[in-house]
Formats: sequence, structure tokens, C-alpha cells
Amino acid sequence: MTTSPATDFVPAVFNGTDWSVVEPLLNALVDREVSSAEEYEKWLLDRSELEAAIGESAANTYINMTCDTADESKQAAWTSYLENVAPKFKPVAFVLDKKLKELAEKFSKTDGYHEVLYRDTAADVDLFRDENVPLETELAKLDQEYDKICGKMTVEFDGEEKTLPMMGKYSESADRSIREAAWRAVASRRLEDQEAISAIYDEMVAKRDQAAKNAGFANFVEYIYKAKHRFDYDTSHAYAFHDAIEQHAMPFVEKLDATRKKELGLDALRPWDLNVDPKSRGELKPFTNGADLVAKTKASFDKLSPELGEMFATMGDGSNTNGTDNGNASLDLDSRKGKAPGGYQYMRDRSRKPFIFMNAAGQHRDVETMVHEAGHAFHSMYSDQEPLVWYRSAPIEFCEVASMSMELLTMPYWDNFYPSEEDANRARRKQLEGSISLLPWIATIDAFQHWVYLNPNHSRD
Ligand SMILES: [Zn+2]
Repeated sequence: MTTSPATDFVPAVFNGTDWSVVEPLLNALVDREVSSAEEYEKWLLDRSELEAAIGESAANTYINMTCDTADESKQAAWTSYLENVAPKFKPVAFVLDKKLKELAEKFSKTDGYHEVLYRDTAADVDLFRDENVPLETELAKLDQEYDKICGKMTVEFDGEEKTLPMMGKYSESADRSIREAAWRAVASRRLEDQEAISAIYDEMVAKRDQAAKNAGFANFVEYIYKAKHRFDYDTSHAYAFHDAIEQHAMPFVEKLDATRKKELGLDALRPWDLNVDPKSRGELKPFTNGADLVAKTKASFDKLSPELGEMFATMGDGSNTNGTDNGNASLDLDSRKGKAPGGYQYMRDRSRKPFIFMNAAGQHRDVETMVHEAGHAFHSMYSDQEPLVWYRSAPIEFCEVASMSMELLTMPYWDNFYPSEEDANRARRKQLEGSISLLPWIATIDAFQHWVYLNPNHSRD
């Protein structure tokens, strides 16, 4: 697979978080005379390469910030990108978008291969407002603030300071009093920051609503469908999906809960009863640390497809704890204090190398996250020959096909994590039940978000 740049317009050594480096190249694209279809194609490739290079610098800065939210210099580097590059980049990108749209029309590059790029760019031109640039900067900083608050969260439990992902394993303890104590410890720790987090959310809702109104929309919901280039479905489809989940998935979830309650011999299911094995067999222990997780995941992919196994191996051995600072590492997996919450795959568009961030803490759900994010990484790697950066990624709805299918396709090979057949089958059952009970969770959040942004004046109460 080639990682060479598509054009030599951007120097090989390039810091896309330094505006003085970025600006002259952007201006060169704005000023360039384009007088033929061939010149248009070259202009597009150059713009693509420049955006890929800026995107990669931003990606590395973001990855390092989320890998160590307590490191002031990494925080400052990301803040500096948010304040000094992104807001200056957006108005120029708007000028370039207008130019792209005009040139595409002039040289008849609006259909076939060019159709989606043309359609998305035309939408971006419609939506751009100067006054939304500072709002977007503030929104990105609120997001960073949230990561910082969550990265700091730890609890004293079992005689040690533990991150919240590390607390997950107690939810599988066969001892109900341990599960309850762990759940309460985590919930009270979160509650300590509830004022700060709720304030961030209130501010985000208000700013998003303002951005939508600035762009001439009645509410953020209508605005964001267009901003996210959702042209193939609208809110009515989202609501129909919520209803379908309520009708078809919820009865199954209720049945699972009833069985669980009966098997555990409980009068009432409480939040701390939902992750334990209903037959009280104690916690699954699929792996010990990031390196072990990678070795076992690699062995599973090798059996599923040697090609995927090889692709996965190029990402590293899982022992890295330094974000992208550690040479060629493409993985930072183990949970530790200071890491932002969650997990993600981030494609670095210039080198065309993906990065996987996780908070692994030895649980089965980490196995699912690992193969899930690896699925996103394979998707990115298989797209890396596409010349235009805008076509090297898919909308999030489709991206999840690549990732969630990996959760299911690797299932036959989970004996790498679970030498005992009983444990492997427990994990498979958990996976299948989880695939369906995930849907109501998704629909609940999606319905809530639609409601919040259609009713932005409701208080948090
Ligand atoms: Zn995903």
C-alpha cells in the first residue's frame, strides 16, 4: 500500500497546526488560475493533499491531548490549534468551496465520480456563516473541557485509586454487595462534577441552536442533518426507526431482563445487576493488558482472514502508552488516569495510517471495542488508495457496518480469549444479546437529542 502523497504541492515536512505554514498554501489555491478540466483535477488533488496534511497534524494533536488530558503542553497544543488555525482556516475553506462549486459547474464535474463531492460542497457553501466560526471554536473547547473533567475522574476502591473504566470489572462480580458498592462509587464520583458537566451541556445546546439560527434554520435538528450531509433520510425516518426498535427490540430486552431477574433470584433488578453473568459465574477475564489484548486479537483475525491479521499487525503490539509520540505506534489501549473517556479510530489522512484509542481494562467489552475499532481501521486502510481525501471516509452510519460486522465475524475465533468453551460461549451470548439491546440505548439517546434540540429553551430540570 502506498503512503506517498498524491501531489508534491505540500512539502514533505509540514506542520499543519502552524498558521504561518498553512496560510500561504491555502492562498495559492485561492489565487490559482484554473482554465481547463485537467487543471481543475490538479487543483482538486492539491487541495485534497493540503487538507489531508492539515487534518493529520490536527489528528496527532487531538490524539495526544486525549491520551494525556493532564499534560498542560498537550492541552495547550490542541487549544492553540482550535484558536489559531481552525477559525482562520474555515473562512478560507469557504472561499475554496465556492471556487470548487463554480469550477465544477464550469467544467461539468458535477455528476458521476464528482456528484457527491459537488453535492456536499454546495451544502457547505449554503450553510457557511462568518459568525458561526467563533461559535464552533467555543464548542470544540467545551468538548475538550468535558474530556478533561472525565479524564480526571478516579475512585478509591479495593484499596487503590482506579479510573472509571477500571471499575467496569466489578459490574461482573458475582457478589452483589461489591457490584452495588462499585456502582455507587462511580455514580457519586460522576455526581461530584454534575454541575460542571451540565453547564457544558447547557452551553453547547445554546450555541448549537444559535449556529442553526445564524444559518437561517428554525432549529439545530434541521441544520445538522444538512451540515452532516444527510441527504438520504430525514427526521421522519429517525422517528420511525425509534418506533420500530420499541416494537421489535424492546420485547426481547424485557424478556432478557425477566430471565436475568429470575436466574439471579432477585425481587427487583437494579443498575448494578445488569452486567453480571445471570448464572453468577463471576467475571470473564479475556486478557491482562493492551499487549495481551493485541496478541489475542491478532490471532483471531489471522484465523478469520490472514490479510486482516497482517493489516492489524501493522498498527503495533499494544504496549504503547504515549499517544502518537512513540514513533510509529498506531494504538494506545490501556486505561490510565488522565485519558479521555471512550474509544475511537482516527485516520491520519496524509500518511494514511489509522490510530486506535481505547480505555481497556481487561473486560469482555474491551474485546468488542478492540475488534470494532479494528474494523474501522480496516475500512480506512482499504480506502487509502482513493486520491481525494473527501472520498476516503464514509458517513458514520455506514462506517458502523465495517466495525460492527467485525464484532460478529470474529466470534467463532474468540477461543483465543477464552480457552474454556463455556467462557467463549458466555461471551458470544453476551455479544449477541448486546447487539440487540444496544438498539434501545441508541434510540433513547437519539430521541432525546432530537427532543433537546427541538426544545432548546427547556432548563435542565
Ligand atoms: Zn464505531
